[in-house]
Amino acid sequence: MSDTAYCYHCQRHHPKDEMRQIETKTGKRWRCVKSIEATKGGRNAREAFGRQTTDANKAEAKSKARLVNAER
Ligand SMILES: [Zn+2]
Repeated sequence: MSDTAYCYHCQRHHPKDEMRQIETKTGKRWRCVKSIEATKGGRNAREAFGRQTTDANKAEAKSKARLVNAER
């Protein structure tokens, strides 16, 4: 149950399953995969990171676009 590490990015603890240990100038530090992907992965990763909150918005936008297309 104590298999967590301090994430210097979020400044909180996560399960190590969801984290990577990376080398920095000051030594090895833990950082969660989500924050790593969101930062270095560019657009796709950032989309994935925010997907939980934007899914509903996207679906709504899509259905609106479809409506507009149908009308034309
Ligand atoms: Zn984190």
